[in-house]
Amino acid sequence: SVLGRIHAVDDKVGAFITVTEELALQKAKQVDEKRVAGEALHDLAGIPIAVKDNICTKGVGTTCASKMLENFVPPYSATVIEKLERCDYVPVGKVNMDEFAMGSSTETSYFKKTRNPNDLDRVPGGSSGGSAACVSAGEVPLSLGSDTGGSIRLPASYCGVVGLKPTYSSVSRYGLVAFASSLDQIGPLGRSVADVAMLYSAICGRDNHDATSAVREYPDFAASLQADLKGKVIGLPKEYFGHGVSDKVKDAIMKMAHDLEQQGAVLKEVTLPSTDYALNAYYIISSAEASSNLARFDGVKYGFRAKDYNGLVDLYEKTRSEGFGDEVKRRIMLGTFVLSSGYYDAYYKRAKLLQQKITAEFHDAFEACDVLLTPTAPDTAFKIGENIGDPLKMYATDICTVTVNIAGLPALSVPCGYDGALPIGCQLIGAKFSEQNLLNTAFAYE
Ligand code: GLN
Repeated sequence: SVLGRIHAVDDKVGAFITVTEELALQKAKQVDEKRVAGEALHDLAGIPIAVKDNICTKGVGTTCASKMLENFVPPYSATVIEKLERCDYVPVGKVNMDEFAMGSSTETSYFKKTRNPNDLDRVPGGSSGGSAACVSAGEVPLSLGSDTGGSIRLPASYCGVVGLKPTYSSVSRYGLVAFASSLDQIGPLGRSVADVAMLYSAICGRDNHDATSAVREYPDFAASLQADLKGKVIGLPKEYFGHGVSDKVKDAIMKMAHDLEQQGAVLKEVTLPSTDYALNAYYIISSAEASSNLARFDGVKYGFRAKDYNGLVDLYEKTRSEGFGDEVKRRIMLGTFVLSSGYYDAYYKRAKLLQQKITAEFHDAFEACDVLLTPTAPDTAFKIGENIGDPLKMYATDICTVTVNIAGLPALSVPCGYDGALPIGCQLIGAKFSEQNLLNTAFAYE
């Protein structure tokens, strides 16, 4: 039925880059056989899950939606994929994204545009637009995305699904094609809080292949869900409700806040004054890391290589000029600039100082609150083509999400209303490793 649905709607939605039909049927059959044989099965056994195309899947193309990796087939799988294989998930395919996860609309994909299933003239958000659209369109119940500055939460919000950006270090990044290594995290998207909790439990945990992954025990998040809000203090950071946030979005978030209050939560206004500088800090730090991470795509080791070149330097230049799209080049240039001598102190170092400040302000907020409640994005999904010519306008859609990555925190986007046909998303932010608390709060609301 999942493959049938993909065949029926994906021509319009355009979520998938690769559909692994044969693999899916083969795996589903194996699970059926195990079931008939009475073997104990994981709750995710037989569940079809789509995977963002920057997560390596052995033997299945992993393109990062770039010409650079158009024909790249990884010889190994990411740790999250190996974990899902041990749960007997059904791999249905790889989904579209902004090229190398740089973008907020999935329009920078080299292959195609993905459309928002709620309104086909609008973007699904990005960069994990395929991951959100395929769940929203009923093609699959669950997917994996990655989030460096909002790429799970923004598309979840625009498409009306649930998306979790986990605490930095809780999910292994081994096999995730790096964008900004100090900010990147893989996370789940799904239709309900319980589904997302289950997938998160399956992928989190220490991995010796990722030295930044934390050594700690995690609960069974889905089994531990509890809808009790009594006495829970919910902070409303006033900077997240300021200029640029639409009235419809503000109203929907406040309605959700009052619903939680009715269930026993206590609302409290808080302030995170450095929020205004977060976009600047984010685009400097993430581009700096990207310029370094993307240096490996040189036409020698991976993927695309320019046809005619004259010596090694020319090979690099032609390969990178032809293989990367405009947005990726913009980030590489920006990142190279802010790291260059003479500018390092003026930009990169100051961005890192701001990071400390933003992190400290969150820390203070969590002394007084259990959870923070904000919009996920200032507005609902925009029209395809509306922002693509104006990078600063595109970057501004990330204003509510980037602070979370800068501070390494977990955050969950849950649907909380509509403006016409367009879903509105609410973001719950917590202290490090407080995923259960975020999931419980959303579960009580849902
Ligand atoms: N939109 C942000 C950017 O373009 C976030 C991307 C992401 O989280 N991967 O950098």
